[in-house]
Amino acid sequence: MRPSSRLERLPPYLFAELERKVREKKAAGVDVISLGIGDPDTPTPVPVIDALAAGAADPGTHRYPSNRGRPELREAFARFYERRFGVALDPETEIVPALGAKECVFNLNMAFLDPDSIALAADPGYPVYTGGPLLAGAEAVLMPLVPELGFAPDLNAIGGEVARRARLLYLNYPNNPTGAVVPDGLFERAVEFGREQDVLIVHDASYTETTFDGYVAPSFLETPGAKEVGVEVFSLSKGWNMTGWRTAAIVGNAEAVNAYWHLKTNIDSGMFEAVQLAAAAALDAGPPEEMGAIYQRRRDLVCDALGEIGVDVTRPKGTIYVWAPVPSGHTSASYCELVLEESGVVVSPGGAYGPNGEGFFRISLTVPDDRLAEAMERLRGSLAPA
Ligand SMILES: *Cc1c(COP(=O)(O)O)cnc(C)c1O
Repeated sequence: MRPSSRLERLPPYLFAELERKVREKKAAGVDVISLGIGDPDTPTPVPVIDALAAGAADPGTHRYPSNRGRPELREAFARFYERRFGVALDPETEIVPALGAKECVFNLNMAFLDPDSIALAADPGYPVYTGGPLLAGAEAVLMPLVPELGFAPDLNAIGGEVARRARLLYLNYPNNPTGAVVPDGLFERAVEFGREQDVLIVHDASYTETTFDGYVAPSFLETPGAKEVGVEVFSLSKGWNMTGWRTAAIVGNAEAVNAYWHLKTNIDSGMFEAVQLAAAAALDAGPPEEMGAIYQRRRDLVCDALGEIGVDVTRPKGTIYVWAPVPSGHTSASYCELVLEESGVVVSPGGAYGPNGEGFFRISLTVPDDRLAEAMERLRGSLAPA
């Protein structure tokens, strides 16, 4: 058996060692608390489940869906964008459902990259922005996100050969893993960059509905000119507690949406229509309102606990993560292994999200309050200065 060279190009899976250790701990009877992955613990809202049940009972949903999506879903996305962001979208040409933002981001690489082309990816960033280009046979070039610039890439620093070969640029605000919200002017600068360099700007809007302290996250498509150069990938996963449902859409530039659709007609056969109807019901109802307060309370619990033991952390205004510096003398990986070893708590090493994630670790807020409180209590021990 010979796996493709494409697979060999992928970097080693950075959580492998951590996962092995977690299994070991659990086998030894340790009560492991995982703050590793971001996967909402709160159930999907009941009306969405009811809509799924009703849709599933209708034989009209049982056949192959079309990759364009049902009009009900595309129209619900258009209504949502109008109501929430004041952005007008044509359901016929500017919206296509996706089987999650992950699938959409991955396939955009397949649709837009040639072997000599480049995707510009945030570092640290969601791993598919770098793994996708590699699997597409192209290259990812990293754009450092540093605290000094509010975790915005310096687009003025991208020029010459890299800019010439770039076809895609990924942005994501509120940002995973840093928790940063979009810095002033970045979306405007991205529109200029897209025009100047003929690069498709892809904004991953996985966390626009998960914000705190009264902050309201914008859509990239609110930016003047954005639709000429860009698309947004909007996911229901985090905001509606629907990670398992695989519900998202690509919205924006019609030509880009069409290229994605064209590619997809060769890859999958779309989203189960009952799920599409449930997603439409979710969009019309809006994200469950209590989630903001739940995550804000958990964020404060984590940030207060870290603050008390002298870890300097910025309180994020959005996402389901806290991004914190590792104590000196540790790499992010060695620190996360130590935390697991000493306290049975799993946190993610920043280095897994790119070289500029080194020196940080990520805490996910997607466990119940009492478990989170217990995890922080245990962390106090292993975080205390040596
Ligand atoms: C969770 C996450 C995704 C995946 O979303 P799905 O719609 O569940 O595929 C995509 N992008 C970012 C930045 C995420 O954090």
